[in-house]
Amino acid sequence: EKMQTASAREEKILVLVRLRPLNEKEIVANEVADWECINDTTILYRNTLREGSTFPSAYTFDRVFRGDCSTRQVYEEGAQEVALSVVSGINSSIFAYGQTSSGKTYTMMGITEYTVADIFDYIHRHKERAFVLKFSAIEIYNEGIRDLLSTDSTTLRLLDDPEKGTVVEKVTEGNTKELEPSKGLLSVCEAQRQIGETVLNEKSSRSHQILRLTIESSAREFIGKENSTTLSATVNFVDLAGSERASQSLSSGARLKEGCHINRSLLTLGTVIRKLRDSKLTRLLQPALGGNARTAIICTLSPARSHVEQTRNTLLFACCAK
Ligand code: ADP
Ligand code: MG
Repeated sequence: EKMQTASAREEKILVLVRLRPLNEKEIVANEVADWECINDTTILYRNTLREGSTFPSAYTFDRVFRGDCSTRQVYEEGAQEVALSVVSGINSSIFAYGQTSSGKTYTMMGITEYTVADIFDYIHRHKERAFVLKFSAIEIYNEGIRDLLSTDSTTLRLLDDPEKGTVVEKVTEGNTKELEPSKGLLSVCEAQRQIGETVLNEKSSRSHQILRLTIESSAREFIGKENSTTLSATVNFVDLAGSERASQSLSSGARLKEGCHINRSLLTLGTVIRKLRDSKLTRLLQPALGGNARTAIICTLSPARSHVEQTRNTLLFACCAK
């Protein structure tokens, strides 16, 4: 019975909330920040002008990060443990969820960079094993998959590989086998930058961007021998489409809540992704949404009064995922 409790705890999605500061545009527009993190786990809505409002004003999560927290803090105190489970052979995913301009890409870029640096550090400290780090970057837009590491804009297909599960056919795969660790870090960050650049592109708010790292390792003393085994695990960094799109299909808080009651577990995220009508995303991330995989969601929020409805939708989603 004890073991069951432990595994149930491990399967739980880690839900992190990150409030960004008001940006320049919002300050110029005389926006007011209505949200405040009152401790490490609670975020509070404090618009005293809005009397008689019916929605709850305090929301509690595994961890909330104030506007003045750095991405390094969000990483070290939040996503790091889940992201690095990949070095122990456990698949994991880090999602960023929130409305456009709430800070998803900003957050994911930093988180990816810190994770990759830690992975290289780990590789450096474990000379007894030989590691290969593979990476790919794709965008899913209108059910079409595009390779972000290639100039070719043809749509790629998903294939069901008996060994690797669902993979993207012909996707460009970077590989650190022949690289020095420092160069490996640079090339992965370059891949991440490619993703960041799609942000400048208007459609990025309607597409999901995924950076996928796969680590393979085997004990050096057994390499080439019969009993040599290769450990392989994947970590996905998923910069989801702007949640304003999700809230169109999930419109009211009532429907979101209904979803919560039906399933409070891991599947909730799967359900929401399915409701985004992206079967490709669901298929691609299936192994990351069940079994012994680890998952963290970073819900990003704008503090601005004018965004209160979207912020509330994001928090309801985050409550759901809990
Ligand atoms: P999204 O990907 O959700 O659309 P971005 O990550 O592109 O949003 O963020 C929008 C803008 O806000 C960018 O200019 C980004 O640099 C800035 N930004 C986002 N989060 C923060 C933060 N926590 N601190 C400072 N600036 C931020
Ligand atoms: Mg973005």
